[in-house]
Amino acid sequence: IPTAPEGFKSGFVGIIGRPNVGKSTLMNQLIGQKIAITSPVSQTTRNRLQGILTTEQAQIIFVDTPGIHKPHHTLGKIIVKNAKMAINSVDVILFVVDSSVKSGGGDRYIIDLLKTINQPVILGLNKQDQQSEDYQQIDESYTNLIESYHWPIIKFSALTGNGLETLQNTLIEKLDPGPYYYPPDLITDQPERFIMGELIREQILRLTRQEVPHSVAITIEKIEETPKITRVFAAINVERSSQKGILIGQKGSMLKAIGTAAREQIQKLIAGEVYLKLFVKVESQWRQSNLRLAEFGYRV
Ligand code: GDP
Ligand code: MG
Repeated sequence: IPTAPEGFKSGFVGIIGRPNVGKSTLMNQLIGQKIAITSPVSQTTRNRLQGILTTEQAQIIFVDTPGIHKPHHTLGKIIVKNAKMAINSVDVILFVVDSSVKSGGGDRYIIDLLKTINQPVILGLNKQDQQSEDYQQIDESYTNLIESYHWPIIKFSALTGNGLETLQNTLIEKLDPGPYYYPPDLITDQPERFIMGELIREQILRLTRQEVPHSVAITIEKIEETPKITRVFAAINVERSSQKGILIGQKGSMLKAIGTAAREQIQKLIAGEVYLKLFVKVESQWRQSNLRLAEFGYRV
């Protein structure tokens, strides 16, 4: 890692907010590559994932956290625990809300969590591209929510990228002088195989909707690299054989659709030709087992 120039700033920014407000979309847009998967289904993000943005003046390490919700099983508890830990270990908090709708109880719950911390907070009003006619009332519901705090408010759209330059500059202002924590060309702390698994999971979320998503875990069993093509062998672990049936689909049509879409995403990730082989395994109750969770890459 090179030595940072004079006056260089660096630090960790925790992106927090309710599920589905656009935290992962924002991180991808800021670092310019898709490393965090996104979807309209809530609880898409399970693990803490870092996205690294290095400019001439600063290195910002974004920590994408799962949305905070009431846990019902071991996996859920780990998700929430990790999100809370993330809040305590960052230098700046970026609290993201969905400004296409009014603030709700979920936002208030997060404000209560933020009362106990000392780091600077920035309120990000996301989804500005989707603002409705009564946007003034909506904006007011958020400014009222934080009225006793003097947090800067930045409006942007993670989807279109509008307003993100201002956001970036405001974040850099809040950072202290510091070194490169990571090599300047690195964009995430996670290994490529983890991102590959996530890209497969994203297509499952997208294509199977309500039926299976939350009990799916991906393991990348093998990666073979040749100069021409990268072969990826991945197992989709589910809890019930009925879910296996849904994932495979009529004459294998669902698995084929998932594979085709995921392959395209993985090709973008590694910028090269990919052959993707998927198979489905039934592993009952994996979400209740700390051992299996650890094997699937969760910090338990
Ligand atoms: P997270 O749960 O907070 O990480 O939210 P995601 O990043 O997964 O996004 C949830 C949904 O909101 C996805 O369907 C995104 O495409 C959508 N989304 C995120 N940001 C924006 C935005 O700025 N504008 C619009 N219209 N949609 C957005
Ligand atoms: Mg997310």
